[in-house]
Amino acid sequence: MILDGKNTAKLRNDILKNKIAEDTKQYRAPHLAIILVGSHPASLSYIKGKLRAAESIGMKATLHHYQEDVSSEEMYQKIKALNHDQDVDGMILQLPLPKHLDEEMLTSTIDASKDADGFHVLNQGRMYQGKPNIKPATPYGMMLLLEAYNIDVKGKHAVIVGRSNIVGFPIARLLMDMGATITVCHSKTKDLAYHTKQADILVVSVGRKHLIDASMVKEGVVILDVGINKVDQKLYGDVNYDDVYEKAKAITPVPGGVGPMTIHALLLNTYHLYENHVKIIHK
Ligand code: NDP
Repeated sequence: MILDGKNTAKLRNDILKNKIAEDTKQYRAPHLAIILVGSHPASLSYIKGKLRAAESIGMKATLHHYQEDVSSEEMYQKIKALNHDQDVDGMILQLPLPKHLDEEMLTSTIDASKDADGFHVLNQGRMYQGKPNIKPATPYGMMLLLEAYNIDVKGKHAVIVGRSNIVGFPIARLLMDMGATITVCHSKTKDLAYHTKQADILVVSVGRKHLIDASMVKEGVVILDVGINKVDQKLYGDVNYDDVYEKAKAITPVPGGVGPMTIHALLLNTYHLYENHVKIIHK
């Protein structure tokens, strides 16, 4: 079974579109502000996808595009201004940033109530404590994809390869919340294949083309491949899709798997923030 993120995201985006059409009879449209520094081709392409998706569902999306040599101070002031802008519900700072900018300081300047990516320590802290929160977009998107295909993770062994703050670590928490037993692997893990072969559910978020092949997975595994690796203008996942396809019960393609679901989760987060800002205030 192919876990079709593109189609699932489209279906879910259509539902969001209808909700926004209803809401805008009464309130202003939700608004996502995107800050981009420089013109890194991958970032430009991600941003284009996010802007297009937002606009397609009736969400206002504005791009604040800065030159590569913008100062930390100017970025800081911009984020502060967007924090105070009553018209903005969600904000994202497209990463990576140029080396001279303090990524940690700038991302944590985004107000938790406008944190569309779900990266803010307050939102992540709430998630780790099991409290209602805005979830990191990629893990959230993956959970929604599993739900869409009725894949029950309860009692399953989920092995996660990669422990980043934006993917590996939070997806471990979300899967554990749903009743899975978790193993998290990383660059220091000895005998990676020993662990991946035990996975009922395998999440791979490393950034290395075809790190995982058929010899490293068991029959019937469900695979979520987060990796995006561009080689000779073509995109590849961290999992060798063709090699593992026969063994896997379900797998996300790259592209068209986790990526579109990440964008959907970003829009959904923005919509939740909008509900807090506009709808609750007007109740
Ligand atoms: P990071 O670079 O932040 O983290 C990579 C992780 O992989 C680290 O935990 C690292 O371990 C681990 N790792 C590196 N080499 C190995 C190895 N040989 N064996 C096992 N683990 C290893 O990555 P992200 O999670 O941010 O992103 C990973 C990939 O996913 C990238 O290709 C990125 O482009 C893509 N991505 C895709 C998204 C989507 O929407 N589809 C969203 C976000 C990311 P250690 O901690 O020990 O260094």
